[in-house]
Amino acid sequence: MSKVPFALELDTQKYVDVHDVKRGLKCNCICPSCKTPLSAKQGDENAWHFAHATRSTSDKTVTNCEYSFYVSVTQMAKQLFMDRGSLSLSLPAYNYRVQSSTSNSFYTSTREVLITEASSISLNIQGIETKLSRHAADVLGKVRGFPFIIIFTHPEKRFEIDIELLDGERAGIIGIDLTDSVSIFHNQKGASITSFKEALSAYLFDEIEHIKWLYHPRESSVIEKAAQHLEKESSIDKSSRLDPAKEMDFIDRALAGFHLNRGK
Ligand SMILES: [Zn+2]
Repeated sequence: MSKVPFALELDTQKYVDVHDVKRGLKCNCICPSCKTPLSAKQGDENAWHFAHATRSTSDKTVTNCEYSFYVSVTQMAKQLFMDRGSLSLSLPAYNYRVQSSTSNSFYTSTREVLITEASSISLNIQGIETKLSRHAADVLGKVRGFPFIIIFTHPEKRFEIDIELLDGERAGIIGIDLTDSVSIFHNQKGASITSFKEALSAYLFDEIEHIKWLYHPRESSVIEKAAQHLEKESSIDKSSRLDPAKEMDFIDRALAGFHLNRGK
């Protein structure tokens, strides 16, 4: 049985923190996965958590339930974004390693290309657990008219990007890795000073290190140009190669005129 910090409150159908409910079955929460009542464990020995209410006879639905720590955190993360409605989010820079197609085992030509610099975006949330065209979106928002997708990942939920599913939509896609949110539980004994909900909010909205770019609308053109450039470079002899300053010029030129934040 997994220890989970968030459960679905029956009356409101909202995810709630174990610190914000009554003890035991009075919490009025169910497991969103198997619908079994959950009991709020608010003891002094362990970190507070929800547990499936056990009956005298062992219940198969409980032992097979997939409602884990990470599932509960993912559900609460979606809700926290939805509740905010609009927010500003700091994003890291996006670098992409381009490799020349003429590379071989003797000579590998690669270059790190800057797709976008670190920035702060203003995000308006449109929905959760939805899609943009055929592409899944845990959170779907807009950044100055551009669609923006957030995907949550954790050890039980991997994600492979498939741009085809965007059907040509010029969307930015970021991943937020929830793996380290398990530290919310670390060294906890009894009630937490900071509720898990507050701790998760800080993790999502203030800690840039969990965020990474999965796709940027301008990456295809920048990568293509950089690859062509590498191709040319590796087909000419070393003495006539561009000097580093000129290579920087090329990258700057490739990026000129593209800004995610810029309106159409
Ligand atoms: Zn369950």
